[in-house]
Amino acid sequence: MTRGLQARQRGPATRTDRIFRIAATGSNRRQQILRGLNGPALLGLYLLVVLLPLVLAALTGPAGRNFWRELGSGLALVGLAMLWFEFVLSGRFRTFSGKVGIDITMRVHQLAALALLGFLVLHPLAYAVPRLADDPGRVLPFLARLFTAEAYRSGVLAWLLLLVLVPMAFWRDRLPCRYEAWRASHGLLAALAAGFGLHHTLSVGSRSDHPALAGLWLALAGVALLTLLFVYVVKPLLQHRRPYLVTANRQVAPRTWELRLRPEHDAAMDFLAGQFAWLNVGHSPFSLTEHPFSISSAPADLPEVGFSIKQSGDFTGRIGEVPVGTRAWLDGPHGHFVVPADPHERLVFIAGGVGFAPVMSILRQLRATGSKLPLTLLYGNRIEAQVLYRGELEAMAAEMPLDLRLVLSEPPPGWRGLAGQLSGDLLAGCLDPERRSGWLYFVCGPPPMMRSVEHTLVGFGVPSRRIIAEHFKYD
Ligand SMILES: Cc1cc2nc3c(=O)[nH]c(=O)nc-3n(C[C@H](O)[C@H](O)[C@H](O)COP(=O)(O)OP(=O)(O)OC[C@H]3O[C@@H](n4cnc5c(N)ncnc54)[C@H](O)[C@@H]3O)c2cc1C
Repeated sequence: MTRGLQARQRGPATRTDRIFRIAATGSNRRQQILRGLNGPALLGLYLLVVLLPLVLAALTGPAGRNFWRELGSGLALVGLAMLWFEFVLSGRFRTFSGKVGIDITMRVHQLAALALLGFLVLHPLAYAVPRLADDPGRVLPFLARLFTAEAYRSGVLAWLLLLVLVPMAFWRDRLPCRYEAWRASHGLLAALAAGFGLHHTLSVGSRSDHPALAGLWLALAGVALLTLLFVYVVKPLLQHRRPYLVTANRQVAPRTWELRLRPEHDAAMDFLAGQFAWLNVGHSPFSLTEHPFSISSAPADLPEVGFSIKQSGDFTGRIGEVPVGTRAWLDGPHGHFVVPADPHERLVFIAGGVGFAPVMSILRQLRATGSKLPLTLLYGNRIEAQVLYRGELEAMAAEMPLDLRLVLSEPPPGWRGLAGQLSGDLLAGCLDPERRSGWLYFVCGPPPMMRSVEHTLVGFGVPSRRIIAEHFKYD
């Protein structure tokens, strides 16, 4: 019996006991946590929503219009539906991201933004094509009229807002403002663009005067509004009832801190080892100041939850100053950096720097549950002092079938681990060429390291479905 189970069989039944009992029927618990639509179902729903306006327009609109007019209105119908769906995709709903992962959902959100921008930019231009064919000289006056006429004003405003909004999102890191300011402006500009787009289509759209299509637009707008209401009002209200307290904040490496939280309520967030949560500490649940961090403690440590946080920007730069007793809130769990339900093969963890945080959660949970799975850990840092939880790792290596390889790019004299970067040559020397293509890999670390490791693994013949990666940045 594991230490976690023993500890939980002593006192009266608590929420944690319940969690642990669910953990005993692992697949049940996984299903609860990773709930949501699967990839094909999501794709089907997405296509249904964004193509429905087109189908309704074809069924209800007048026939026999010229091709370019049809194309112009078709682009607008699909583009606008995609714009409304963007609100739902970015709402961190587990129905959408629970199974496919929030990183994939955000990637779809970004790609859809590019596509809808293209559709909506081309929408007015398509109307100009017949004039271009008849008399190229008429195109500019035609477009000038389109962009200045009173009737098209809301459409032009939506158009211009999108032309600002989408590039701002893609070059966000280069903007001279805080992430939170960008996030607030992103939501506001998107809502304005969608609102103006709705006004435009309902007032001058040649197809949307049919009640079926007008009703669909209002329904989509309603869903998007409910999404905003849920994200900015309902969810914070729910979080408000589930506060956590910072119980410890200690430095665990240069510029890296471990924050531990304990719930002030009896419904601690359940999670799978390796997942992450948005952490809001020292503000109110209504604040936009929240940041995603992998949970580095194990589910077996619940109700306490721990994070290992490296200083990098304005919020993390002051993480060491957060006093014990500060109130915090969590939005989670999210993420797919988790061990599959019933693994049989060796698990190989390749982590760099603070990217080790979710790996530590998995290792801690495997230790707590007495796992006998063969494990390899390749953990890279620049200098020795940056190695997180070294004592605990060495104890694990003595207790579990864990092949522990610490790698330093600037090793001190007499260093007994590996020296260099987590690159192709080093991986080739550590992973048995006869077997490595059949193992399961978990990769997390700085983006260049992740790119190089993933590239190397694919070169070793590891199928990409056997490489599970956690990116600490969505773009
Ligand atoms: C899934 C995931 C897990 C992570 N786990 C860890 C971890 O265990 N330990 C750790 O030290 N770091 C982790 N990070 C990185 C951490 O979130 C950022 O370092 C932190 O948010 C930076 O905030 P800042 O204000 O200090 O820096 P800033 O300079 O304000 O932000 C730097 C960048 O961090 C990202 N970021 C900031 N705020 C948010 C937000 N609210 N939502 C999404 N992205 C944001 C943006 O890309 C931004 O450009 C993780 C990131 C992700 C996406």
